[in-house]
Amino acid sequence: MANNFIHTFFSEVSNEIEKLNIDDIKKRDLLNKLQNYFNKLDYILHSLIDSLEEGIIVVDENLKIVNANKTFLSWLEKEKEDILKKPLTDFFNISTIEEIEKTTLNIYITHDKYIPIKAKIQKIEVNNRHFFRIITQNLEAIHKIQRKLKSILKLYRVLNLINQEVLRAQSVEEIYSFTVETLVKEGVFDFVYIADIENDKVIIRTAYGNEAYEKYLNKNAVFDVKKIKDFRNVLATKEHFENESFNENEYEKLYEYKITFPIYKDEYSVATLIKHSEIKALLVGYFKNKKDFNPHFITILRQIAHDVGYAILMLQNRENIKYLAYYDILTNLPNRRYFFEKLESTLKILHEKNQTGALILIDINKFKNINESLGFYAGDLILIKLSEILKKLIKKDDLIARVGSDEFGLFINNIKNEDELFMILKEKLNNFEFVFDVDEKEVLITLSIGAAFFPKDADSKEMLFTKAEAAVKEIKKKGKGFLSYNKKIKQISIDRIILESELLQAIENDEFEMYYQPIIDIKNKKIYSFEALIRWNSPSRGLVSPAVFIPILEDTGLINEVGGIILNKICSFLKKTNKVKVAINVSVKQLHQKKFVDDLINEIKNEKIDAKRIIVEITESVLMENINSFIYDIYKLNSEGIEIEIDDFGTGYSSLAYLKKLPVFALKIDRAFIKDLPFDREDEKITKAIISLGHTLDKKIIAEGVENYAQLNLLKNLDCDYVQGFLFAKPMPEKKAIDYLKNFNFDDILAK
Ligand code: C2E
Ligand code: MG
Ligand code: MG
Repeated sequence: MANNFIHTFFSEVSNEIEKLNIDDIKKRDLLNKLQNYFNKLDYILHSLIDSLEEGIIVVDENLKIVNANKTFLSWLEKEKEDILKKPLTDFFNISTIEEIEKTTLNIYITHDKYIPIKAKIQKIEVNNRHFFRIITQNLEAIHKIQRKLKSILKLYRVLNLINQEVLRAQSVEEIYSFTVETLVKEGVFDFVYIADIENDKVIIRTAYGNEAYEKYLNKNAVFDVKKIKDFRNVLATKEHFENESFNENEYEKLYEYKITFPIYKDEYSVATLIKHSEIKALLVGYFKNKKDFNPHFITILRQIAHDVGYAILMLQNRENIKYLAYYDILTNLPNRRYFFEKLESTLKILHEKNQTGALILIDINKFKNINESLGFYAGDLILIKLSEILKKLIKKDDLIARVGSDEFGLFINNIKNEDELFMILKEKLNNFEFVFDVDEKEVLITLSIGAAFFPKDADSKEMLFTKAEAAVKEIKKKGKGFLSYNKKIKQISIDRIILESELLQAIENDEFEMYYQPIIDIKNKKIYSFEALIRWNSPSRGLVSPAVFIPILEDTGLINEVGGIILNKICSFLKKTNKVKVAINVSVKQLHQKKFVDDLINEIKNEKIDAKRIIVEITESVLMENINSFIYDIYKLNSEGIEIEIDDFGTGYSSLAYLKKLPVFALKIDRAFIKDLPFDREDEKITKAIISLGHTLDKKIIAEGVENYAQLNLLKNLDCDYVQGFLFAKPMPEKKAIDYLKNFNFDDILAK
């Protein structure tokens, strides 16, 4: 065929060259060159023909084979010599050449082995002889390619489906189950599972396929990699890895290579790793028919595994971002933003159900000091430990969050009232103080807790927060403990700033006035002393109670200045009266001022007032909490002849040892114990105990807040020395007090 044509052409051209009228040497040279070209051409044509996917055979007029290309020979699994000169009908199921193009032909390799083909005929003429060139296509090879293409397309379709779906998925489970189901439903595998790999354990997370794989369909089934002998060398991966070398350390590849367990004999499997941040899971597919296998499986499956891993990574990032936006990383608690958002919906539900709740803010006192003295590590540790304790306070549907650097927020549903909440918190929060071990050091922390109730105190989240925060601020002043929002706090927090500036004005405008309330010696029926009680005649507010403004004066430091004013006024009162004593209230801030005692002593000396007419009242709690710093002052005052009284006795915790030693003249029983006498048996017992205790310690006893005869009579019977209260007189302005003093008659007053 091709060479015949080339030979014919070559001989024709050679003849023409021979005829040329040139010298012989030149002729030889030309003919050699020509021969060379034709040889090369012949070779190229041969290789081309041999490399064709079509099988080509040439037969003569008698249908005897004269040539065949390599492809055709390979189908027949024969050498050229074996078939040359043999009749075409030995190999083809035809009797005439015309049948070739019409029927589906078979080429017989042996009598029962054949290949289906399709053929075309070309007639050729060489040197006046006729030949037929038969060009054949191997139908089996075409089918094979078509099948291959179809399965690749199917894989790509599956890849596409999974790709789209996994990026939309909201959870890892969703991604997993869609992947395995699609791979089976689309006919890629008979059975597919995804398993986590954890320390040589393979834990099935999702599986899909024929029920025959029941053992593996079981979610969370665990297989020990080490115990599974005879790992199937995975068909695909084995082939895949044949050309790749990897060492034992490349365990990722080893997993792909080794971990698919034989489920059924004569079954094939493909394994790929799903990776995101680290090795995470294994995607394994099984199929029964080896013919179904296609090396593209591994490529596409890897692509699927990669996409699944990517989707999981995206999902985690999405969750991470969400987490960072809504959670505190240190304590793992929700943050302020989350708390606010959830509170909104919680309040809505409570409103609909007509239920109540309490917003509780928990603040760590002096947290800054902990950070500064022990370092942030200690601070962090304390926050974590406290958050663990607080977590135990909440039930389902309650809320918890870290709402500030040293503040936690709780919202507890259906708390009945303040008392109930207080009891719960006090008990669960160890009376609001904890000792934490930090680096082998014991760190004491105390809590200030404020609460506001829904809907009693507020019905919006913002107002609940504001009010609970106001309560925290208030309780902080007291040191530690719990306070719920009430009207008083509201007044303080909102009016506070205005009040401060008004108090400055009050000092300037001399709006303070001293009122005096007599203290009656009931045994001798005499006025023993007057207690000086400050009043503020505010032009805008009227007469303001010291309970409102004394704490502000203390906070702002104005108390020292006002203390001077008070002393001035008292001195003037003392000068207008004779002999009667005046009790002055001193606050803790005044006492902390080192100058206070000296100033007082100097002032009364300057004013030429007998120190014996001065009494200093210090409240029990203030005195006992600062006993070491005040003890010297107390001795000094006493040495000058100034009397000391302990105010609001019974509310603090006096050390009996100190009480005995201290030069204290009298104990003033707090009004709280007197108020319900003679009906409250408990209060009576306490009063009785204080009186007898005081007397054994050689102290006089004063009862505050005596308003009626019954109280007076009982106190008399209990051997009380002095009484103070509305029964005798309310606190009075100076002039009235002086009149009262002049006209005082014990029996007359009681007779009124
Ligand atoms: P305190 O020293 O325990 O004063 C006694 C309080 O009980 C006074 O309240 C007085 O008016 C009130 N009281 C007296 N008898 C009765 C009674 O029969 N029934 C009732 N319900 N109350 C009675 P006040 O004047 O409002 O003073 C409150 C507190 O403010 C004082 O408690 C004292 O701690 C402080 N305070 C008053 N004046 C001064 C002052 O000049 N300097 C300082 N540092 N604190 C003062
Ligand atoms: Mg007092
Ligand atoms: Mg008092």
